[in-house]
Amino acid sequence: VEKSAQQPKEGPVRKPSQPAVFVPVDRMPEIQEARLRLPVLAEEQVIMEAVRENPCIVLCGETGSGKTTQMPQFLYEAGYASGKGIIGITEPRRVAAVSMSQRVAMEMNLPTQVVSYQIRYEGNVTTDTKIKFMTDGVLLKEIQKDFLLQHYSVIIIDEAHERSVYTDILIGLLSRIVPLRNKKGLPMKLIIMSATLRVEDFTDNKKLFPSPPPVIKVDARQFPVSIHFNKRTPMEDYVGEIFHKTCKIHRMLPPGGILVFLTGQAEVHDVCRRLRKAFPFRRSTTDTGKEEETFKDTRRFKKDKQKQAVALPRIHLDNYSALPVDEGDEDQLAGVDDDECGYEGCELDLGEDEGDPDEKADPSIPLYVLPLYSLLAPEQQAKVFQASPAGTRLCVVATNVAETSLTIPGIKYVVDCGRVKKRYYDRVTGVSSFKVSWTSQASANQRAGRAGRTEPGHCYRLFSSAVFGDFSEFSEAEITRRPVEDLVLQMKDLNIDKVVNFPFPTAPSGEALMAAEQLLVSLGALEEPPRTGRVKDIERAKLSCPVTPLGRAMASFPVAPRFAKMLALGRQQDCLPYVIAVVASMTVREIFEDLERPAASEDESSKLAQNKARLMQMRRLWAGQGPSLLLGDLMVLLGAVGACEYAGCTPQFCETNGLRYKAMVEIRRLRGQLTNAVNAVCSEGGVFVDSKMAPPTESQVICLRQILLAGLGDHLARRIREEEILDPKWKNGYKTPLLDDPVFIHPSSALFKKPPEFVVYQEVMETTKMYMRVVSAVEPEWIPQLLPQYCHYGPPLETPAPWLCPSTGTIRSHCTSTFYRVAWPLPAVEK
Ligand code: ADP
Ligand code: MG
Repeated sequence: VEKSAQQPKEGPVRKPSQPAVFVPVDRMPEIQEARLRLPVLAEEQVIMEAVRENPCIVLCGETGSGKTTQMPQFLYEAGYASGKGIIGITEPRRVAAVSMSQRVAMEMNLPTQVVSYQIRYEGNVTTDTKIKFMTDGVLLKEIQKDFLLQHYSVIIIDEAHERSVYTDILIGLLSRIVPLRNKKGLPMKLIIMSATLRVEDFTDNKKLFPSPPPVIKVDARQFPVSIHFNKRTPMEDYVGEIFHKTCKIHRMLPPGGILVFLTGQAEVHDVCRRLRKAFPFRRSTTDTGKEEETFKDTRRFKKDKQKQAVALPRIHLDNYSALPVDEGDEDQLAGVDDDECGYEGCELDLGEDEGDPDEKADPSIPLYVLPLYSLLAPEQQAKVFQASPAGTRLCVVATNVAETSLTIPGIKYVVDCGRVKKRYYDRVTGVSSFKVSWTSQASANQRAGRAGRTEPGHCYRLFSSAVFGDFSEFSEAEITRRPVEDLVLQMKDLNIDKVVNFPFPTAPSGEALMAAEQLLVSLGALEEPPRTGRVKDIERAKLSCPVTPLGRAMASFPVAPRFAKMLALGRQQDCLPYVIAVVASMTVREIFEDLERPAASEDESSKLAQNKARLMQMRRLWAGQGPSLLLGDLMVLLGAVGACEYAGCTPQFCETNGLRYKAMVEIRRLRGQLTNAVNAVCSEGGVFVDSKMAPPTESQVICLRQILLAGLGDHLARRIREEEILDPKWKNGYKTPLLDDPVFIHPSSALFKKPPEFVVYQEVMETTKMYMRVVSAVEPEWIPQLLPQYCHYGPPLETPAPWLCPSTGTIRSHCTSTFYRVAWPLPAVEK
């Protein structure tokens, strides 16, 4: 890689000899008819010609124009899966990989053994597979095993406009793999597909593609969509407002599907529940189960010859884009704003929600409400593509999965909250989190466009046009706003040592790369750079440290490097099941119900207070006594997970004990997933993680605390001593290496009453004060042995190191025999 990256040499475009075959596909007549109406079909000749002539092409077309479903079929028919290689297509989302493989199998009348999918721990790929849909992460792992991807003749990168980190890295890697393959006489094609025309990062990037790949645009006409802005922008309860707006549309506007955009799973369920309550879906029979059956029967799709195991989504011909669709300019909605669509007088204008109209009014048409988000079970997801029951109105409540990856038939109204949940990285604490923020103009327009697929539509925006004007124009590439240590580790595992030289479509900052490299060295995932030599050489070496065997093991775990380190250490003292539980619960955002929630009435407030006392008592119980107390908030997490599993992880148990049921279910799923991942790199017998675990023994608690320290070492804090207090506000504060201001233990923490001298924390959250979240005690004598890089050896320092006690000499003299050697228990991983 390195070599070709430095001297990009691509001769004149060679025409790789293509199989002059045409592989017939036996499609059903109604499918064939519907395909012919898709905009990409009109361009098949042009597209395939370009594919034949060029190693790489970029295909742009509005969502719904047929890129994802048709491109693999074009390639299949042109013989690209007839030789040794198969057709691979990557999706940034699991939902899309699964549902698109099923859809294409159905369209081609081929079994799922031939048109298959692979997502992280699940798939139906066989040796007969010819078209393989997968998540981008899966292909990245495959590149780690075989850099030349010899199994494939074509790779299609779908949804490249989303600029997900893995997509970006894949494009960078493939820009090197494709010429290498062609040089070796094993021709390979790369097709980058985007729903927007903003592709300069791929095409005008000499480092990536020395000769720019041709861009083929598929013209698609979009029906006009009237945009209705809100006059004011709800900041607080936008979820409630979305609900009201949807109710109004259903009650007042002519038939047509409704698509609601929210930011996350919890909101989606909340709105679904309220809508179902407001507009109960009356079933024809009283027996729900039976009714479901007849329901399914009427929707069953004509059985396919090969008798597929998977229930086929039923296509709904009427809901196809019935007319040739145009568009093709960046923004089909440009110029359509509140003024132009006649906000005031528009007959479909719903006005603002004033007061609370009777949401329970019973309209003549029942509302058929369906949720849609990435983690939803595939059978549930498939429902949005099936015809809704006769005489109902479809209402899909979705996250931004529905923005570009999936085209839902029959949508006429879009309700957009204007927000998106994104992963944010706090440079101060170094911990990433999910936050809801405004989306970009481009993505709000994409959302609106979903309403104009089959006929003119309407988009109701829960924000004002002024707020829209403040949105950023495009969503920035994910890579620029997140920590890069995990991807640096992944790339080092691919033996790309000089990550700075990698041809990223958009490169992360040098500063971010350096920080990542430093953290990975301190975690032992990368080899240490030399300390002697010419300054220039040392500096250069710091940015090209090779991966260690530990780093390779860590790279195979689907968690951030700090947590991966803990998993790699977990085997000692049979701690693995606990480490897995701890990592799983730290990865899930918040497992406890909020005890500080404001009460709605006085009555409720006294009830909440009583409840709070009881729940606090419960948490103290989980924190345990004696040595386990030192594990602090982590022990509370472990206790909660353990207790919940013993009780069978029921919603009732969670409710009475102040736990979020969804979080507990997620933790259970993650524990299974992490166990598999850890077992996969282990050459000794694997561990079996029983969902029920006994409380850890005393020595296990000590071992766990050390493992935490080894992983979260850069999140170490020392209690400020009396003599160091310069400001009364510093009392009970802690010093950290990263912050100038002190941080504090939250009153709800298990360690609040007995603050230890040293602690590690998961993250710092700023509320009324800078509080550390998830705190655990550290014995000072462990620090020099587990974190020598943070210690000073030798005589006491004149000026104390910023956070360590005046001299680490004292720390060292503390050393006792309670130290458990933390050795890397993982044997070198086979590569
Ligand atoms: P693109 O990738 O360009 O966004 P797709 O290939 O995903 O477009 O979709 C093309 C057409 O196929 C759309 O009109 C869409 O409605 C239809 N379609 C896709 N998947 C399904 C499905 N599971 N059921 C019914 N129609 C579908
Ligand atoms: Mg698509």
